[in-house]
Amino acid sequence: MAYRLGLRSLARLRGVHPDLVRVVKRAIEITEVDFTVLEGVRTPKRQRQLVAQGASRTMRSRHLTGHAVDLGAWIGGTVRWDWPLYYKIEAAMKQAAKELDVPIEWGGDWKSFKDGPHWQLPWGSYPA
Ligand SMILES: [Zn+2]
Repeated sequence: MAYRLGLRSLARLRGVHPDLVRVVKRAIEITEVDFTVLEGVRTPKRQRQLVAQGASRTMRSRHLTGHAVDLGAWIGGTVRWDWPLYYKIEAAMKQAAKELDVPIEWGGDWKSFKDGPHWQLPWGSYPA
């Protein structure tokens, strides 16, 4: 089954780096699990709030510069947080990135503070 991004997801991709947008748009065509864009570009104010709440650890977030997106598994009209769903989204995102030759990093691959919804363009290839 082929999914497509809804209007809300497309709106949340505004300001995100075009290479990352291309990967997300390809991934939605091939993913086994539907997903929604939870967040793209973030204001410094919101990032400070997230750090204060412990939801983020850094003020150097790639969300601030449009180099990151958060994708949520979208099942039956709601966001679900179960890891198995995120491994399916991971497979689609990594395949899409490979096809398009765009390097990406998944928060789920981080050693500490694993972040299943988080995807970003690497600092090395995409300095701010
Ligand atoms: Zn994120």
